[in-house]
Amino acid sequence: MLMTIAQKLSTAKRPLISVEFFPPKTEKGETGFARAAQELTELNPDFVSVTCGAGGTAAGPTLAVSSQLHEQGYGNVMPHCTCVGASRDALARTTDALVEAGFGSIMALRGDPPKGERYFKPEPDGFHYAAELVAFLRERHPALCIGVAGYPEKHPEAHNRDEDIRHLKEKVDAGADFITTQLFLHNHVYFDFVDRCRSAEITVPILPGLLPITSLKQIKRMRAFCDFHVPSRLLHDLQATEDNPEKAKRVGLYWTIEQLAELVEGGAPGIHLYLLNHAETVFYPELFACLSRVRG
Ligand code: FAD
Repeated sequence: MLMTIAQKLSTAKRPLISVEFFPPKTEKGETGFARAAQELTELNPDFVSVTCGAGGTAAGPTLAVSSQLHEQGYGNVMPHCTCVGASRDALARTTDALVEAGFGSIMALRGDPPKGERYFKPEPDGFHYAAELVAFLRERHPALCIGVAGYPEKHPEAHNRDEDIRHLKEKVDAGADFITTQLFLHNHVYFDFVDRCRSAEITVPILPGLLPITSLKQIKRMRAFCDFHVPSRLLHDLQATEDNPEKAKRVGLYWTIEQLAELVEGGAPGIHLYLLNHAETVFYPELFACLSRVRG
């Protein structure tokens, strides 16, 4: 029987390394995903997770890709599950199927509104917030390991950081075993978030989400999906190298390496890599060496 992520987190003598994949949507995307899935076996992450796209039909691709990764030898695969476009019955069917397929961990999310919509609208008998999905899963599958999302720079819809932390605590009180954070580029943001969580009596492990930086364009693209501050030094250095992609990549990945080393040094229980199905960044020699040192 495989250890769940929570069990790994509580027994590991070193920080865990995890990688997030997303189900490809195009033929080109499929090629990129297949290559990344193949190449990343060399990194041998402690677990991988698979996102769930918006729009109700998203659970199928997540299950298919999760199963594919499992067959490829990734021992611990965690599918994501969102409440978008899903009734309570649909979520019961989806999550039952994931558990029956052998997945012992699920990342429970509310999800973002579908493209073109500004606000999240639950289905008439669906869930309004991720905490309700966590409670539902905890009751239906008591042994399941449940991850939830945390936002060091505050979720964009939350009025303030205290309110956001209160809602995060509701997810943990409902049964979440660990938190993975949204990406951030200033480490003090993570350490401050962990302090605020601990003050609010949130005691579960908090895995920092790290985006290996490769260009200014990549940062701009990501900021269309999530809110995070870009440090002025990084911004300046990326702007200065914008016409030299190799130099820009070096600037970005050195930032990532510094972030990673400081997070580990500061006691983070793991590093969750947002690789966006691009394995090659991980094989940048200095970054790979740094990750290998963490893995021991
Ligand atoms: P919630 O925890 O429900 O929070 C949403 C908002 O509601 C927050 O502002 C919160 O403060 C507020 N809130 C919570 N409870 C209450 C309450 N009782 N009353 C009032 N306000 C409340 N999206 C996808 O579509 N697919 C994915 O696979 C995916 N994976 C992700 C993985 C990670 C690690 C992270 C950090 C994010 C991921 N997302 C994904 C994005 C996520 O779905 C969005 O950020 C979404 O807007 C919020 O989801 P949540 O689960 O954090 O929601």
